[in-house]
Amino acid sequence: MRKVSHTPLSVDDYRARITALVARTPVVATPLADCVGLVLAEDLVSPVPLPPFDNSAMDGYAVRAADVAAAGEDGAVALPVAADIPAGRTDVVPLEAGTAHRIMTGAPIPPGADAVVKVEDTDGGQERVVVRASVAPGTHVRRLGEDVAAGATVLGAGTVLGPPQLGLASAVGRADLPVHRRVRVLVLATGTELVEPGKPLLHGQIYESNSALLAAAVREIGGEPTVLRFVPDDVAVFRETVAAHAAGADLLVTSGGVSAGAYEVVKDALAGQGVEFLRVAMQPGGPQGCGRFDGLPVVTLPGNPVSTALSFELFLRPALLAAMGHRRVERPRATARTTVELRSPAGKRQYRRGRHSGGSVTPVGGPGSHLLASFAASDCLIAVPEDVTVVPAGEQVELVVLR
Ligand code: AMP
Ligand code: MG
Repeated sequence: MRKVSHTPLSVDDYRARITALVARTPVVATPLADCVGLVLAEDLVSPVPLPPFDNSAMDGYAVRAADVAAAGEDGAVALPVAADIPAGRTDVVPLEAGTAHRIMTGAPIPPGADAVVKVEDTDGGQERVVVRASVAPGTHVRRLGEDVAAGATVLGAGTVLGPPQLGLASAVGRADLPVHRRVRVLVLATGTELVEPGKPLLHGQIYESNSALLAAAVREIGGEPTVLRFVPDDVAVFRETVAAHAAGADLLVTSGGVSAGAYEVVKDALAGQGVEFLRVAMQPGGPQGCGRFDGLPVVTLPGNPVSTALSFELFLRPALLAAMGHRRVERPRATARTTVELRSPAGKRQYRRGRHSGGSVTPVGGPGSHLLASFAASDCLIAVPEDVTVVPAGEQVELVVLR
């Protein structure tokens, strides 16, 4: 029996439904190199101070400030160089009064020294150094713990890990971090008319493009897509393909085959099997479906490329981000004045594609759901509310900022 709901669901209600369908991914210790863009699941507490020891901020000479107080415009001070401390030297040689140690940036300050004279203020000597400038105590010394105290929380749970955060995790000695693992998404396009890009095309056939779009969209937010070889409008082939790949996946996303025509393969295969087909009050992208097939969460998107893209944007993107622990799952919003009149069907939220700048927005292409090049050329969505059928030129509209 087909379960078809006739009252359209609002965009917001359907988004909540899809978000509830996709479970939070488990927390897995992950090497730092694989963590970029993922969300830290626990506070990161540093076991060490940073810097871990007092060290030199300059190439120069470690001294007692008092020993070089007489150096300056009127004269110089000569000191014997009693030791050489390159970065990485691990033994400890105290500095005797009246001597200098040659020291490199990042090398440990010897006990007894309280300042560094930079090499430019000396003659660079190796046995004996002539110092031409005095220094205040503490000059060019990077203090133990001045960046991070031992035991401090350096990254909070929920932090999105980017390059600086991963650098910091390494600096406090971590090789891996507990993150919500990438959400595993199966992508399955349907349509007998579809041909793999790169192959010859007959009249009546089109290149399959939703898989590339969806896989890239999943990957862009940190998910792990698996693109299944697209299937013709054949229920048996569809079911076999899903069954062969379902293990280990968090979600199956299909495209096509959910409208009101004949040969609606996804609907035919999944209706009454735990997946509900319904309409969302939006244009484009109205026909949708979601549920569980054999326990596997499934979201079935309409096939028109812009409908697929918009559905990902509005429903899957926030759901998948939330599944991976993100707290910010919404795109930035803005308002702008439309440069032309917009017309929209009553009772549906229309999403037009547009380009915006300096507080105004211009639609790119018409409302048609097949206009993929227009979508690729746009940097925002223009949302026309359900109860608005005409927006005169010069009026404010709501934008979803994509780029
Ligand atoms: P459907 O939702 O299956 O009725 O498809 C709606 C429209 O989108 C038709 O014009 C299809 O040819 C097209 N379409 C469906 N799936 C894809 C796909 N994977 N790539 C490109 N176009 C598609
Ligand atoms: Mg189709």
